[in-house]
Amino acid sequence: MAGLVIRPRARLFHGHDWIYSSDILKAFGDPKDGDVVSLKDVRDRALGSAIYNSKSQIVGRRFCRQRQELDREFFERRIRYADAYRDRRGVAKTLRRVVWSESDGLPGVIVDRYESTFVLQTLTLAMDMRKGLIVEVLAELFPGCSVVERNDAPIRRAEGMELVTGMLLGESAPQNIEAMGVKFVIDALQGQKTGFYLDQMDSYREVAALAEGRKVLDCFSNQGAFALFCAKAGAASVNAVEISGEGAAAIRRNAESNGLTITVNEANAFDYLKAADERREKYDLVILDPPSFTKGKDKVNDAMRGYKEIHLRAFQMLEPDGLLATFSCSHHVSSELFREMIVDALVDAKRSARFLKPLTQSADHPVVAGLPETEYLKGYLVEMMPGR
Ligand code: SAH
Repeated sequence: MAGLVIRPRARLFHGHDWIYSSDILKAFGDPKDGDVVSLKDVRDRALGSAIYNSKSQIVGRRFCRQRQELDREFFERRIRYADAYRDRRGVAKTLRRVVWSESDGLPGVIVDRYESTFVLQTLTLAMDMRKGLIVEVLAELFPGCSVVERNDAPIRRAEGMELVTGMLLGESAPQNIEAMGVKFVIDALQGQKTGFYLDQMDSYREVAALAEGRKVLDCFSNQGAFALFCAKAGAASVNAVEISGEGAAAIRRNAESNGLTITVNEANAFDYLKAADERREKYDLVILDPPSFTKGKDKVNDAMRGYKEIHLRAFQMLEPDGLLATFSCSHHVSSELFREMIVDALVDAKRSARFLKPLTQSADHPVVAGLPETEYLKGYLVEMMPGR
């Protein structure tokens, strides 16, 4: 087996599994892109097996501490274990992220399950080359499933791969799903994106449990998941704000098919919040779940200004005992920075509030100790303090 000799002090010796080119002292046996390579330290001690791609910034990703081939038995074992982990954590059996990349020891492989429709992404070259095997294993473990390839994530270009979508197994058809009593239609193949955010499932439950009798404002609503769950839970009124026409139309459709009433505003949330604040609108529960405002470290300051702006507006519109559920999915915004921004916005709004609890990515997006990149979604439930 070809391999890499890893320099002392590389992050591999500090709990991480990624190998950058600067971590490599030398290669032996002429590894090819997409190969499994064995890892050694400078004293020739074995460090495990990694997938290799010289074209990627992350040249190697260790997936096992022993010598291990990417064979069918391996995929079966890892996928079975990943699914069983979600069972133990109480994640819905037929609506879950079954496999999440490094967090499940399969770097670059993502499998989302919507009833019998499985949506596969292979974002690393080595895994992409073995996607036939992965589909075989899925077919065996989940009889009758169909597998859709949604390999249109731009990140694939970083591994030198094309963007593709298509059916890998079975027929393409919109899939009806139900989550916490609310119906959605997932069109994994045709849809712009499936639009269902499995990583927010735990927070949907958490926030909906607080919605009864409250006036709710759901900003960055996408196809309206928070709005729908709050309406279902008996909110007094629900207002949703979404910039994309497609998203706004999906919210209307979903509200109608579930017999729920939601006011849909196809608008830029920044403009909407400003205008609503100036109109002196008041809410009991505001949800802020924006897209990542920054993809790079250099744009963090701009992102923080954006976050602060929408939080200031939210704090000005919240009733004396109002609640805010707020999220950031930006890798480059730490939870400390996010909390500081919340404090700054409170200062400007001249109000006080409590952090009731942190909100994080759902249990089917496990966080691996030693791989900080696996923890990306942070959020807080904030309660305003009356008279302050
Ligand atoms: N809360 C949603 C997910 C939000 S994803 C859910 O749980 O399903 C972020 C959404 O914000 C996307 O649908 C995107 O179209 C929308 N968006 C992006 N910029 C926006 C803006 N300036 N104003 C309103 N919506 C915006």
